[in-house]
Amino acid sequence: MLLKNKVAVITGAASVRGLGFATAKLYAEQGAKVVIIDLNAEASRAAAASLGDEHLGLAANVSNELQVNAAIEQVLGKYGRIDILVNNAGITKDNLIMKMSEEEFDKVIEVNLKGAFNCMKHVSRIMLKQRSGHIINMSSVSGVMGNAGQVNYCASKAGIIGMTKSLARELGSRGITVNAIAPGFIETEMTDVLSEDVKENLLGSIPLKRMGQTKDIAETVAFLASDKAAYITGQTISVDGGMGM
Ligand code: NAD
Repeated sequence: MLLKNKVAVITGAASVRGLGFATAKLYAEQGAKVVIIDLNAEASRAAAASLGDEHLGLAANVSNELQVNAAIEQVLGKYGRIDILVNNAGITKDNLIMKMSEEEFDKVIEVNLKGAFNCMKHVSRIMLKQRSGHIINMSSVSGVMGNAGQVNYCASKAGIIGMTKSLARELGSRGITVNAIAPGFIETEMTDVLSEDVKENLLGSIPLKRMGQTKDIAETVAFLASDKAAYITGQTISVDGGMGM
């Protein structure tokens, strides 16, 4: 039991085929009390209930600071502490730059980058008082390498890496670690929408010659939240089959 009795908040974890839910499931198996925060209250509650009675599902739009604050207060009310925060909620709105609207750019930054900021801001306060905690942010191989048609998404995911390093420096002296994960091409609803041609092309650029599974990512998110990773902070761990090297 890597995470026995740890209280873990995971955003964007109500989609049962997604990376967030795979992480929530593994965390629950490893003994954590899991809080799922996602857009839809019913979906969040159902996802949390499927893991067992001691878990909690809440609704919040991570890009809305007031909603994030209210959700975090509910977590504190129920469990009294937060040991782990996983900023996983994320969206894409792909387009070539000439066609990308201001709204497509802003929305992706608001959810992927400001959403993580909002959650880290409120949870940092709690972790600072506790003098312990682990924050794990979901970046992407696209944030490391760039990707045509994704200037908004890549900017948000590269921004996550910068925020991770900055916060690791701010919180390190209080025993709090902050790391990022850069997943490669993983089988979820986010990648289901890609055409067979695009998928074929991407597979050609992966040394391990397969798409990643959600479990591949969840295992790394669990490791970074455990005592085994106590001396790792400010890092971005690539879990991408070698795609981004
Ligand atoms: P997904 O689309 O399956 O799940 C994303 C979840 O985030 C959904 O449950 C959605 O409801 C939730 N969400 C969206 N906007 C939200 C908001 N404003 N507030 C709260 N919740 C919100 O995505 P996924 O493929 O599981 O990806 C999870 C994370 O991993 C994302 O940050 C994504 O960018 C990143 N990622 C995914 C891949 C991949 O190949 N799937 C690769 C690299 C990085």
